[in-house]
Amino acid sequence: MLEAARDADASVATAAVGSTGHVGLEPLVTATLDGETAFFSECSPGRARSVTEALDGGTLPSEDAVAVVEHEPGAATLPVPDEGPLAVGERGVLGSCGWAVPGSIEDYRAGAGSLPTDLELADALSRLRESGLRGRGRGDASADAPVADEWTTASEAAGDPVVVVNANEADDRAAGDDLLLEGAPLSVLDPALTAAEALGASDVVAYLSEDADLARERVRAAADALVEARDPEASLRVVVGPDEYKAGEPTMALEAIEGNHRLEARRRPPGPSEYGLNGRPTLVHTPRTLAQVGRVLAGVDPGGVPADPGTRLFTVAGDVAAPATVELSTGATLSDALPAVEPEGSRKAACVGGVFGGVTRSLDVPASAPGLESARLGTNGAVELVGESTCMVALAGERAKFAREENCGRCGPCREGSKQLVDLLRDVYDGEFADGMLRELGRTMRETSLCGFGSDAARPVTTTIDVFETEFHAHADGRCPSGTCTKL
Ligand code: SF4
Repeated sequence: MLEAARDADASVATAAVGSTGHVGLEPLVTATLDGETAFFSECSPGRARSVTEALDGGTLPSEDAVAVVEHEPGAATLPVPDEGPLAVGERGVLGSCGWAVPGSIEDYRAGAGSLPTDLELADALSRLRESGLRGRGRGDASADAPVADEWTTASEAAGDPVVVVNANEADDRAAGDDLLLEGAPLSVLDPALTAAEALGASDVVAYLSEDADLARERVRAAADALVEARDPEASLRVVVGPDEYKAGEPTMALEAIEGNHRLEARRRPPGPSEYGLNGRPTLVHTPRTLAQVGRVLAGVDPGGVPADPGTRLFTVAGDVAAPATVELSTGATLSDALPAVEPEGSRKAACVGGVFGGVTRSLDVPASAPGLESARLGTNGAVELVGESTCMVALAGERAKFAREENCGRCGPCREGSKQLVDLLRDVYDGEFADGMLRELGRTMRETSLCGFGSDAARPVTTTIDVFETEFHAHADGRCPSGTCTKL
């Protein structure tokens, strides 16, 4: 697309930026002239070329544009249309995504401002403590818990601290981390470097999946630019780990960075903030958390609800024409994200939180961690819409089989529990629905597993039983209400 625009041989500045999060609009081309921007979705190379030629002639083309937005000339963040998918939610941490050049220090500073380079630890801690910010994403060592607690522990632990950006989110249902790394990597790396400086840490490690080629390329370029601009002595390295669901668990991420081939979760306590990478006090945050940390440390009011301030990124996927990642205030509800996608058929349910999310019929659920937890849904930023043709018993069975096959084997509740889960679900097809045993097994796995993998693994099953119990009874009677079921 960029080549086509450049082939126009016009004196128009062109740049490749990241995604806006709206896959259905891509390839998306924006054309800007004198404080006005036109958006062209599903753009062809020929259209990109003609748009460039029109700009070169001093005209902003608007024919075929899905939106035209007036804004301040030189706007540093994406101008947002009044309606359509791009108008859904907020664009705080996503402000630069789809607009700024990902590795450009100038673009980043224009959009997000620069973080103080001499932030005292006490000042950083008090800003984080006052904000009440919680970690985001299952790969964060302070997932849904106050970030300030983790920083305080790391700052008090003995040893040379280190900061880990855990970006190995292998569940494609939650695309928020990749979106930030590909579109606004500096908004993640700058707060990581600020954390390292405040803690007196000698290095920052960005841990990415081996499959995240574009994110890796952009993180490397952004890291080089940031080190040069902020501190040529700083160490900011990129380490790659396997593209496996379990590899994103915070302590398994540390094992992978240390070079261990067999990934197993570590027993806690002590957590990573006390005893992390090579035994050093380690802050493990996801890109989603660090982007929020950056705003708080820069003095931006995070907004949202006091119990979980800020915004959260949700990828709406499943039975939709194309997925979209949107930013919701924690004061919003999940339903607020729905206009960002085109559903395929009518919706029967949603699985919220990723592969081990919770099943619900209603999305009128607060987009905050406490709101999601009290609805027994997951907080990993994924809303998977499930259409009428899906068999919910089969869906629960697939998730249980994934748990049985992918767990690391370190602890019994998860290793053996996930096998029993599959067996009990298979029994349903043989005429026996032991709902009490399934629920009790789910409770045991949740309360006694060593890491989040096992704690969450039974959730799709137990929440599906809660919402679709009649479908389980129907299967035990030899009938699949959706008519699509195959034997487990
Ligand atoms: S809960 Fe599962 S993935 Fe986590 S340590 Fe136990 S066996 Fe491994």
